[in-house]
Amino acid sequence: MNFSSKLVSWYQNNKRDLPWRNTVNPYYIWLSEIILQQTRVLQGTPYYLAFLKAFPTIEDLANASEDKVLKMWQGLGYYSRARNLHFTAKDIVNNFGGEFPKDYNKVLKLKGIGVYTAAAITSFAFDMPYAVVDGNVIRVLSRVFGVSTPFDTSAGKKQFQLLAQELLIEKKAAIYNQSIMEFGALQCKPKSPDCSSCPMQGFCVAFATNSVGGLPLKSKKIKVKARFLHYLMINQEDNIFLGKRKAGIWNGLYEFPFLEFPIKMNEKQVMQSDEWSKVFFNSKCDVKSVSSEFIHILSHQKIHAQFWQINTVGVVLNEYELISKNNLFEFPISRLTEKYFETIELT
Ligand code: SF4
Repeated sequence: MNFSSKLVSWYQNNKRDLPWRNTVNPYYIWLSEIILQQTRVLQGTPYYLAFLKAFPTIEDLANASEDKVLKMWQGLGYYSRARNLHFTAKDIVNNFGGEFPKDYNKVLKLKGIGVYTAAAITSFAFDMPYAVVDGNVIRVLSRVFGVSTPFDTSAGKKQFQLLAQELLIEKKAAIYNQSIMEFGALQCKPKSPDCSSCPMQGFCVAFATNSVGGLPLKSKKIKVKARFLHYLMINQEDNIFLGKRKAGIWNGLYEFPFLEFPIKMNEKQVMQSDEWSKVFFNSKCDVKSVSSEFIHILSHQKIHAQFWQINTVGVVLNEYELISKNNLFEFPISRLTEKYFETIELT
């Protein structure tokens, strides 16, 4: 048996029973693929089920408000996924009669769908011969075939895509693609792969050359920027200032006004800063509490955040709305703010 047949046979004996595996509905598959980008199966499954319950069809998703979609996405992070999902649902309803196009190139043109997701949707739903290449696939191919080209270079991307396409069993594209991804997730894991019981061991280059831990190779180290944010929960007669973000990764989510500094500042320094004076100029202000620091890691940022609860009279912030404290939990917010909410009781 060759590599590809061994994979499929391994899959038939080892696959997990996941809700999106028992369907060829492209909407369900698309939804699961978008949720599972940067999200573990265990965390993503309840979101997948909740989305399908709330929006059983693409039309239902297209007709929902952005606030509702973002609220349901809350906690998953990478919110551009939710915004693109919503945009594309509307696009499919308006331009494809509500049916997912059965054409790889048309699927690839939809917003939020890249080469991997287009291959996953067209192969899983329509059994079209497009090989998927994600992190699991790259790891398996680089180890079994000893590919040491860094996967984040253009040469590496091309090499892995070509190799994956060459190995694809074209007449069984759906099951083959599922097999290699599942094999990477369960057997050839990033840390502690289970080489001792592995059916590929006899011809795995990394195993033979004792280089399992060193593959796959990556070239770049992402530069992570530190940010120091002070969120201000400004309370005026049981109302709180809240604003909708209009750009960046948290676009569409709601947040408190905040002050940002290039370095860590203590409370006294914050209250003596120009940024503070601009907000509280000419108003009475009573700081009730300042939280300890919350660290939130994003792909390119490490956010150090503190939340201030402040009672005031006379603050005017034109870019923010004053909303009732009782309605605060209805708005979609970032996971960072949600983590803070988990530590307090709003009175
Ligand atoms: S032998 Fe180890 S490294 Fe090679 S494919 Fe199997 S699990 Fe992965």
